[in-house]
Amino acid sequence: MSASAHSLSRPASDASVKNDLVKIVGVHKYFGDHHVLNGIDMTVKQGEVAVLIGPSGSGKSTLLRCINHLETISAGRIRVNDELIGYKEKDGKLHELHLKDIARQRRNIGMVFQRFNLFGHKTVLENIIEAPVQVKGQDRVPAKRRAQELLDRVGLAHRASYYPAQLSGGQQQRVAIARALAMDPELMLFDEPTSALDPELVGDVLDVMKDLAKSGMTMIVVTHEIGFAREVGDTLTFMDGGVVIESGNPREVIATPQHERTKGFLSKVL
Ligand code: ADP
Ligand code: MG
Repeated sequence: MSASAHSLSRPASDASVKNDLVKIVGVHKYFGDHHVLNGIDMTVKQGEVAVLIGPSGSGKSTLLRCINHLETISAGRIRVNDELIGYKEKDGKLHELHLKDIARQRRNIGMVFQRFNLFGHKTVLENIIEAPVQVKGQDRVPAKRRAQELLDRVGLAHRASYYPAQLSGGQQQRVAIARALAMDPELMLFDEPTSALDPELVGDVLDVMKDLAKSGMTMIVVTHEIGFAREVGDTLTFMDGGVVIESGNPREVIATPQHERTKGFLSKVL
């Protein structure tokens, strides 16, 4: 494990080193003959929060899924920490990695979806220790101790023995975040984490994400929460039709979008 395994306690100053953590170059993705990603370039530096917005169907989820190789790519390269994701390159050609190498790469990348995807028959604590114990082979006692710390961090220390159905959607989503963090990922991907929540529950989840960002975690966040983008994002990228239309400082993109399509989209979500 690299030093970044301790990213939760990493002082913010370390994040200012600012290496490129995620490098996406010329990525294309087809589903059949549907060209869903059409040459995506995107870089996310260590410790940065990259917010991704765009209309439904623009390819945001597909791009996130490509970053942890839940989808294959049709062309281009995705690197995390300089390691090619999902493939090895030989004579300029990509060959898909073995499952165990794909699994190793995925362990380093946490993902939180719109739907919480918790195991319904397991308690909150069991949900969180599942992967550390089963996948990483951690002992249950330290795994539980860590899970309890993570629950405390997401404001749910008192819910360890509850079942998901006994929690609100916002609480379930915070458990899902804690569960992803239990694997000590170097990168966190969020795909519309608050879209399925009742409005009054959105703030608590965004607060947890804001804390995580402050701790120095590198994050790519697909969201329509423009306030979050403005306040927490280091970059804001607008996608439409499988291409990046524009990207930049969130305040600038929001205040003075350069493209008509960005203006049109922002006028609908602001
Ligand atoms: P977004 O997250 O921006 O709403 P998606 O990445 O989910 O967009 O989808 C982009 C396009 O790709 C859509 O037209 C969608 O229907 C299509 N698509 C997504 N996943 C699949 C799939 N597994 N098979 C075929 N088409 C898909
Ligand atoms: Mg989506």
